[in-house]
This record gives sequence, structure tokens and C-alpha cells, in this order.
Amino acid sequence: MKLLSSVSVTAEKLIEITAKLASRMHVEDEEFEKVVSLGMLEIAKATATAVATHISREANGLIYCNLCSKGPFTKKGMFLHITRVHRDEVKALLEEELRARLKGLKST
Ligand SMILES: [Zn+2]
Repeated sequence: MKLLSSVSVTAEKLIEITAKLASRMHVEDEEFEKVVSLGMLEIAKATATAVATHISREANGLIYCNLCSKGPFTKKGMFLHITRVHRDEVKALLEEELRARLKGLKST
């Protein structure tokens, strides 16, 4: 129960960072450090990067959404699109990815 709720809380906190990465915006390590504990830092970064790569694609310097195929977007436009239209989907993807990574860590 405790793990489940912490996954959900962590996923929620990573939505905006993931949207930034999907928008090809630069994200400083400090932004991750503000939302996760140091022990979770590497998992949080890998998770956000994997989900950002999954939900967006870049072609000729333009950004497209992989969740609904809309685009092209500017960086700012993509960030707003992801956080407004796909917030719940992105959170679910982050939870799934976080759980898989936490399980992977546990079994080793
Ligand atoms: Zn979309």
C-alpha cells in the first residue's frame, strides 16, 4: 500500500517534468531533486525520459504528439498540450514505468 501510494504521488510530481522533456525543453537535475528523494533520482530521470520519448516525436525540428498524432507544436505549445490534454494518460504511463523500474531494482 505504501509503495503504491508513493508511486502515484511520484508520478503526479513528474508530469510537468515529463511534459518539458517531451517538448524538448531542458530540465535541470535540480528540478528532479525538488520532487523526488535522492534515492529515487536516477529512477525518476529514467522514467520521465522513457515516457517523454514514448509520447512525443520530433521531425524536421518540429514536435508531434504520439498520444493523439496532433502537431506540429512549438516547445511551449507541446508542453501545454501534454499538461492539459494528456495529464491523466501521462500520469498512468509514469506509474507503470515507475512500478516496472522499482520491481527491477528489487529483484536484483
Ligand atoms: Zn496529443
